[in-house]
Amino acid sequence: LRRDSDGYLDGLNPEQRLAVETTEGPILVLAGAGTGKTRVLTTRIAHLISTGRARPFDILAVTFTNKAAREMKHRIGTLIGPAGEGMPWLGTFHAIGTKILRRHAELVGLKSDFTILGTDDQLRLMKQVLADQNIDEKRWPARSLSHLIDGWKNRGLTPDQVPPGEATSFAFGKGGALYTAYQARLATLNAVDFGDLLLLCLKLWRDNTDILESYQDRFRYILVDEYQDTNVAQYLWLRLLAQKRKNVACVGDDDQSIYGWRGAEVDNILRFEHDFPGATVVRLERNYRSTGHILAAASGLIAKNESRLGKTLRTEDEPGEPVTVTGAWDSEEEARLLAEAIESLQSKKHPLSEIAVLVRISAQMREIEDRFVQLGLPYRVIGGPRFYERAEIRDALAYLRVTMNVSDDLAFERIVNTPKRGLGDATLQQLHTFGRAERVPLLVAARRLCETDELKPKVRQTLRALTESFSRWARLVESQPHSEVAQTILEESGYTEMWQKDRSADAAGRLENLKEFVRSMEEFPDMAAFLEHVSLVMEASEAEGAERVSLMTLHAAKGLEFDTVFLPGWEDGLFPNQRALDESGRAGLEEERRLAHVGLTRARKRAKLSFAVNRRIHGLWSSTIPSRFIDELPAASVDVVEAPAHYSAGASRFDRNPQPFGSSYGTPGWQRAQERTQERTNANSGGRGFGASPGRRGVSSGPRQIEGELIAKSTGTPS
Ligand code: ATP
Ligand code: MG
Repeated sequence: LRRDSDGYLDGLNPEQRLAVETTEGPILVLAGAGTGKTRVLTTRIAHLISTGRARPFDILAVTFTNKAAREMKHRIGTLIGPAGEGMPWLGTFHAIGTKILRRHAELVGLKSDFTILGTDDQLRLMKQVLADQNIDEKRWPARSLSHLIDGWKNRGLTPDQVPPGEATSFAFGKGGALYTAYQARLATLNAVDFGDLLLLCLKLWRDNTDILESYQDRFRYILVDEYQDTNVAQYLWLRLLAQKRKNVACVGDDDQSIYGWRGAEVDNILRFEHDFPGATVVRLERNYRSTGHILAAASGLIAKNESRLGKTLRTEDEPGEPVTVTGAWDSEEEARLLAEAIESLQSKKHPLSEIAVLVRISAQMREIEDRFVQLGLPYRVIGGPRFYERAEIRDALAYLRVTMNVSDDLAFERIVNTPKRGLGDATLQQLHTFGRAERVPLLVAARRLCETDELKPKVRQTLRALTESFSRWARLVESQPHSEVAQTILEESGYTEMWQKDRSADAAGRLENLKEFVRSMEEFPDMAAFLEHVSLVMEASEAEGAERVSLMTLHAAKGLEFDTVFLPGWEDGLFPNQRALDESGRAGLEEERRLAHVGLTRARKRAKLSFAVNRRIHGLWSSTIPSRFIDELPAASVDVVEAPAHYSAGASRFDRNPQPFGSSYGTPGWQRAQERTQERTNANSGGRGFGASPGRRGVSSGPRQIEGELIAKSTGTPS
């Protein structure tokens, strides 16, 4: 029966082969990182096609990101070659949902050219809905509502299915009603949001069983990657689609579930076995990706989690290089050491495309990017814009640019109504007309228009306040440190407040980025020098080059692999993140630990952790303690490369602050604001991190094993 002339099955181990060749019936591959789950899926597709069991269009494969879909297409292409006519339906849940909905739009009350609203448009619509119902948006922000509604959609709930207790949760019991109103608005606009892409498919299929059946017959084989991160709506969608033929293959790893905050449910793994009784469950235990030390470190770490299904991982690879831990004096030095290490790899002919830097929060990227730009190290940011291209940073920059240069019209337009001040398109139009007639920039036009009675009184008042603010800020630049001026501008303009009030998942990250932005200015003599630096960085970002270092958040790194992985910022409060530490119960901390596990297991040959002893958190210098996750790594697989004076002067680098864990960075007693002082200057002139900082005990000659210390310390369980 089998036609394996191309030998695509040859390299597989027996369990992988079982997972590929068990083509009929439900199958769940539950296995750790790097065990070849994704490879099983792609080989399975090749197998289905080349044995004639399926034609490409009989197959549906779901990936977690568009990038993963592209990679899978590429892998399948190389497996089945040009002979394979057509490609399977292959994409994210959203992409496939869209494709289906376009075909049957009229059956769910849409036209086939419906628009898919992005986050911004979705918010605008929520605001209108709130205004229609006379709900004070200051008190009940649109973002909170959107968060609430997205949550319901993730759980597969239409407005009439929201549990009564929850429907009354927002704006004095109006949550459910607002959800209904929002859906009605979407319908009149012939628009959907991301959540609808799946919900409407569910509705389509429930109301039209013939259509459901046509898809059930069409997708004779269904495959799902990264199954542990599906949410309930996605699960219901899959279950409906697979129910008839039951040829569904899901691969996942409960230890890599990192989207709980976005509604993903690991329980879907357990549900699968329940809903598809008799499913073949395959466990893969051999890791093909990482060397022994890396795997041991990752396994040792994840073993500290209590809620896991449990599994073993082994490698037949060499132990390889131990995982290294580097301590730096502060985050700037950390970035410098990291860039030096990359340059050293580069000089030994390691391709940059095989190097990745994975950070916990995007604000960490700024110093690293600046360093790369300084050195001319080509890099790309995956899964998000570069630091200075982020919306909140561009907004902040626009305020500064207008302050420094009244004729920067583009910048003015960007922020004239951000945050919302009631200076909408009509006003802007007036400014444009007036500005053109008088041949003056928009800000000057605004000033002059305020002296006339052409504007509505309310608009005039707001506009005057804004123009006066800009004049005041411009004067401040003359007399105050520029980073303080920037801080003042962001506060007085209401921009910071706009994000503080925001309840959406990414608001906190944006505020972190804004703080990082202000702080980054201190490295420049004045505002003009800073703005010039930024424009250079932005320009550099446009240069194309094939060989580049990849920079991304840990969340974006799922499923990827690199020879060398740098993992900076392993400090308590940053990673694990403070929000997870503040949470009661261990769910938050365990998700952080899974994230650390995902990070380590991206590495094939080298995993390089680092931490900074001083980091600015929420604008204040704090001395930090190395992440508890470092303590949890098995000592035998870890090397400490560079011990900062701060720690080597005491009994052990891993000595912890006696404060109880989970105490906030803001707590007096352990927050010691550190000025960037002589010490750092010394450290910098020393060339190699702590080599020259005062107080250092002895001189380290290269890597130093600290196994004894690690064991001694890691047995003491944190309180
Ligand atoms: P993750 O959980 O990180 O998504 P995964 O389980 O999907 O990992 P893959 O990405 O499929 O793992 O495989 C990891 C690496 O191991 C890849 O480089 C893959 O080509 C390789 N690999 C998988 N199976 C084998 C095998 N049988 N022989 C040789 N290499 C293999
Ligand atoms: Mg994978």
